[in-house]
Amino acid sequence: MEENRIALIGIIVEDITVTDRLNTLLTEYGDHIVGRMGVPYRSKGICIISVIVDATNDIISALSGKLGMIKGLNIKTVYAKTKGDMITMKQTIIDKLVNSQSATADELAYLLELDDFLDIYAAADGVRKIVHGDTVHIRAIIEFSDYCSRRCAYCGLNAENSNVHRYRMKPEDIIQTAVEAYRAGYLTVVLQSGEDGWFTPKILGEIVKSIRAQTDMKITLSCGEMSYEDYKYLRECGADKYLLKHETADMEIYAALHPDARLESRINCLMNIKQLGYETGSGFMIGLPGQTTRTIAKDILLLKELRCDMAGIGPFIPHPDTPLRDHLHGSIELTKRAVALTRLILPHCNLPATTALGVLSKDAKDDILSCGANVIMRKVTPPDYRQMYEIYPVDFGEAKDIVTERRELEAQIRSVGREPK
Ligand code: SF4
Repeated sequence: MEENRIALIGIIVEDITVTDRLNTLLTEYGDHIVGRMGVPYRSKGICIISVIVDATNDIISALSGKLGMIKGLNIKTVYAKTKGDMITMKQTIIDKLVNSQSATADELAYLLELDDFLDIYAAADGVRKIVHGDTVHIRAIIEFSDYCSRRCAYCGLNAENSNVHRYRMKPEDIIQTAVEAYRAGYLTVVLQSGEDGWFTPKILGEIVKSIRAQTDMKITLSCGEMSYEDYKYLRECGADKYLLKHETADMEIYAALHPDARLESRINCLMNIKQLGYETGSGFMIGLPGQTTRTIAKDILLLKELRCDMAGIGPFIPHPDTPLRDHLHGSIELTKRAVALTRLILPHCNLPATTALGVLSKDAKDDILSCGANVIMRKVTPPDYRQMYEIYPVDFGEAKDIVTERRELEAQIRSVGREPK
């Protein structure tokens, strides 16, 4: 049975001699009319009437049509969005995401703002289970240098922060840590740093080659923007994946946060990385100043456009030594929603439960594994350096050896019904 809709019919009576015909018609439809109000505007020779109707589409259209046929009346009909309409709209967008992995920015923004997101979490978790199974991939991260020449306004490692204790691991120590991680069971290592010119592509390439010679781990680099030739060289040395978060797809927000960088250049690097056959990772932050649900929608669509294989989506956390020190941290709920929608629009993408989310709430980090995430990153950076790599403040607690930490994480993953790998 067709559902009723609520409509407001606005009528301007420009010829008052038709009033009788108008009243007869409204009486005929009286069972569907919730209320009506007429305001005569004598000095202008018109009367303005509003009629509220609760009826099926067919009845509302018939009434509007008949009113429109009366010469001397000017008619406009607007429909209210009822709860029923909203449920239908929500389901239509979810179906589109699940069936064709597509949505517009407006549709994604609409979903991000809903009161009830539970069925979208369930849909994302369902897609995760079908595409990735119950496996949670654990990646080892080695943060090998916290020197950085850039001045990103949200990052504690930015070049202008003189309170950071800067360090550079020796290449042989980076290699040794990667080999230890491999022996502890890690299958992927992420080598991450600020944009540190000391680590030239040549030096990085030698590190990659050496790890490749001693292990069969996948090697991910996350060392910032480089030229096409440098990315190509590192790929030839054996790097499999490259991680370069775009942070925000909004040109103005990007420019405000990155005094020495351009969004176009970031996107260009990501396109080069993809073209060179790297598994390509990007990602963004939730809670940046100026961000709206529509800009988050654009972030998700940019991941899709770049055909990302990995995407890190985490909440912004303010660092006391940065220009954003007084800004509030990003919303946990919005972070989870963005991950779930990314899972629906990019089913094959690897989506980590980010460290930043775990800093705000350990429960949320477990929780996000049921919202579409399938990866956990674990620091294996030697304890002496771990606390110094401070993009945002975080207390890592007591450091244990790589093997113990890996076993504890595996147990934690099993405790939420998933299988570590
Ligand atoms: S976000 Fe990266 S590039 Fe920017 S300051 Fe921090 S480490 Fe450097």
